Amino acid sequence: MSELSYKRTNVYEVADEAKMKEIYDYAKGYAAFLDAGKTEREACAYAVKAAIAAGYKPYAFGQKLQPGDKVYYNNRGKNLYLIHVGSEDVAKCGIRILASHIDSPRIDLKQVPLYEANGIAFAKTHYYGGIRKYQWATIPLALHGAVVKKNGEVLEVAIGEDENDPIFYISDLLPHLAAKQNAKTLGEGIGGEDLNIWLGNVPYTAAKDEKDKTVKENLLRILNEKYGMIEADFLSAELSLVPAFKARDLGFDRGLIAAYGHDDRVCSYPAYTALFDTKTDKTVMVVLADKEEVGSDGVTGMQSAIFTDLINAIAESFGASSAAVRAHSKCLSADVNAGFDPNFTSVLEPLNATYISCGAGLTKFTGARGKSGSSDASAEFVGEVRKIFDDNGVIWQTGELGAVDVGGGGTVAKFIANMNIDTVDIGVPVISMHAPYEVVSKADVYEVYKAFCAFVK
Ligand code: MN
Ligand code: MN
Repeated sequence: MSELSYKRTNVYEVADEAKMKEIYDYAKGYAAFLDAGKTEREACAYAVKAAIAAGYKPYAFGQKLQPGDKVYYNNRGKNLYLIHVGSEDVAKCGIRILASHIDSPRIDLKQVPLYEANGIAFAKTHYYGGIRKYQWATIPLALHGAVVKKNGEVLEVAIGEDENDPIFYISDLLPHLAAKQNAKTLGEGIGGEDLNIWLGNVPYTAAKDEKDKTVKENLLRILNEKYGMIEADFLSAELSLVPAFKARDLGFDRGLIAAYGHDDRVCSYPAYTALFDTKTDKTVMVVLADKEEVGSDGVTGMQSAIFTDLINAIAESFGASSAAVRAHSKCLSADVNAGFDPNFTSVLEPLNATYISCGAGLTKFTGARGKSGSSDASAEFVGEVRKIFDDNGVIWQTGELGAVDVGGGGTVAKFIANMNIDTVDIGVPVISMHAPYEVVSKADVYEVYKAFCAFVK
């Protein structure tokens, strides 16, 4: 192979003993973040704690920022902005932005969820994000979220993570009786209204009234005794079923991590740790966004005005125009890409796919069918990022999300690029993306972290 040709580098092939230790050690901190932050609320709370430990102070609108300030804006407990104010002139140098998301595909409870059928208490659900529904049956599920009672009290819920907790469940057919279901397509095998959660089956036999001797009544009694809840409290609740799995090392060599919710906590953790670990004169903003999996809308999504409001606040602090700050800002949209899976090669084009353990995956454009819906980073900006990574010894690669016309997807990149901020996608290649248990390489998590450190330096 001559020096004239391009070839990906496998991180594990070139890492010495010291670097292998760094990679494996860094993965431990990431795994702890995964286990503690299975929803955007939990991931946000975890990152806020880390920010406070790193010296970050809460920001309030109207506050004038000064060089050296380290502030965070916790947007409704689900969306976090971390800002390091540098000594460089923001009007000329802009802001270096790392934007990832902390929501992941899952199964949400409906607002009137409870019912009983044939002696079993169930909850109705409406899934969140792009899931392959059949993957979510017959696995242990944990219930996470918040219940807002009528008196305003907020009940934080996380049931099913502790070994002693009960778990929840979606049933599927036994093979003996599944001939008809087997003849359906994978997408139709389990329907959206079939994702009903098993909650219990012990009736309330002590009830005075015969008609209250039901499983549902018993469930309501338990919820009331344990949490002071009544059924109407579900009306103002956000409760989600997530896999009750912990992050685990995968394989004899422990080079991979299997976990729920790599997409996109696998970029969120490197984004905020890179910010905390890097000494810089630049003004840096880390965004941990919510609602990416459902289109980035709403008050906590990337399209919320809060993003520009905060940029405006930075600009105003220095008497700069927000337009000038944005025009000179640069962003890495930190999100995952599909890792090349040797078991499913036909959906990716091998030259232009991201490979696990080959480093940070840069994606110039996303979209589908003719790059539709993509912000498509300019060659100039990709060239600039390429130089930053190469100069800092970051191992990186490039790849598209799938072969042409097979499918596609998007990220928060376009919403930031639409604000006149140069943006390119970069992240970790994921195997089985959006499945209850996804897989990434520890080497790639580490290289993405190094890439972010280099970008904000
Ligand atoms: Mn994502
Ligand atoms: Mn996703």
